[in-house]
Amino acid sequence: MEYVIIGNSAAAVAAVEGIRKNDKDGNITLISDERHHTYSRPLISYYLGDKVKTEGMYYRDQDFYIKNNVKAILGKKAVEIKQEQKKVVLENGEQVAYDKLLIATGSVPFVPPMEGLENKENIFTFLKWDDSITLKDKVNKDSKVVIIGAGLIGLKAAEGLNKLCDDVTVVELADRVLSTILDNQAAGIVQRHMEHKGTKFILNNTVSKICGEGKVEKVVLKDGTELPCDILVVAIGVRPNVALAQTAGVQVHRGIMVDSRMETSVEDIYAAGDVTESMDITVNTNRILALWPNAYYQGEIAGCNMSGGTMQFNGAFPMNAIGFFGLPMITAGIVNPVGDQYSIYMEYNEDEEWLKKFVVKGDVLVGFILLNKVDRAGIYTSLIRDKVPLKMIKHDLLEDGFGLKAFPKSIRKEKMLMGGKE
Ligand SMILES: Cc1cc2nc3c(=O)[nH]c(=O)nc-3n(C[C@H](O)[C@H](O)[C@H](O)COP(=O)(O)OP(=O)(O)OC[C@H]3O[C@@H](n4cnc5c(N)ncnc54)[C@H](O)[C@@H]3O)c2cc1C
Repeated sequence: MEYVIIGNSAAAVAAVEGIRKNDKDGNITLISDERHHTYSRPLISYYLGDKVKTEGMYYRDQDFYIKNNVKAILGKKAVEIKQEQKKVVLENGEQVAYDKLLIATGSVPFVPPMEGLENKENIFTFLKWDDSITLKDKVNKDSKVVIIGAGLIGLKAAEGLNKLCDDVTVVELADRVLSTILDNQAAGIVQRHMEHKGTKFILNNTVSKICGEGKVEKVVLKDGTELPCDILVVAIGVRPNVALAQTAGVQVHRGIMVDSRMETSVEDIYAAGDVTESMDITVNTNRILALWPNAYYQGEIAGCNMSGGTMQFNGAFPMNAIGFFGLPMITAGIVNPVGDQYSIYMEYNEDEEWLKKFVVKGDVLVGFILLNKVDRAGIYTSLIRDKVPLKMIKHDLLEDGFGLKAFPKSIRKEKMLMGGKE
């Protein structure tokens, strides 16, 4: 059996491991346009800020490919899938035949048209380890950095860059930072925390023009404000990287459409990770869930099924466990509900920089924000995933000692929560 995997990150690594559980002998060829061994993408900001060294970046040991008998073709882009001939064409014209193919091409940065963006040095996106390596090389103590976008990637870039220079400004069109995963109060706490550490924020505004001869010298904002700038990071968002999949004619909506076996609309072609659309069980709709654990889980399912297994993907929901300058947070599911079918249970303390918020729909938990008090997130996550009826205990969600003891024994057993901490 010839397995070919395009990608070399969470979904691809998981697929290798999924295949090898069932098939020790089949040939696996892995193709990635990045030159690096498997690494943890969420760590690129820590590398930038010198918190993690090169050795700490790797997601698997250096003998991963050898141990799993994988032929790794690194630093080469796949440019076409000839689905009728079952071949992948690389940028150098080389063709790689497959019996089963996995597309795990992840995300690409979204860069909207902006006046003055073309042909200038010192404009970056922040998605790859090489972005981090180049930025680290370019930035010095006196650099004036502007980051467009206060989403997860923009703030992670800010945290890393803040360690390298004194002047980092984040410009955000929304009225708060991390607008898709936090509410106003939580976003305010995070923003103030980062401001104390030296990052500046300009909200409700965006960059409308980039100025400079050959390289960036300043940016002009929508309201006319001018900011001197010699390093510009565009972190507005990411999009599923579907270009290669489209050459195979697989069905693509925003991301690649897959069934619960992670199989695309074309026989023997599977897809997993950020490049796919996944069922978000909190809103019952297909969405892009660009998250590391989701990518790993889908990759494992794909690998298992490519090699004769029967694993099923039962949906997921957005969940982020992150931190900025030592302020930890875990957010999941619906955090800014609209409509009167939701109830909110919330407590927060601005001075002590913590917040807990739970969103309940009917009788089940559908989302939460835990900021700087992140205990028991695993239990709350199980409550969402398993749709556990909360009955009389909704108010207990906020208690510091909240745990499984709050539930009747039958539910503890039934919902497999027994592994959790009581
Ligand atoms: C700064 C940052 C911080 C993050 N923090 C978190 C976090 O805290 N928690 C979390 O859950 N998620 C986080 N994420 C998101 C997480 O990294 C992604 O969800 C995850 O990496 C997706 O894995 P993937 O395997 O689907 O694709 P990717 O990691 O995107 O990998 C896809 C790979 O395929 C390669 N490729 C693409 N096209 C081709 C082609 N045509 N030929 C050859 N190779 C190709 C790409 O170069 C890339 O190496 C973060 C992301 C970034 C950028």
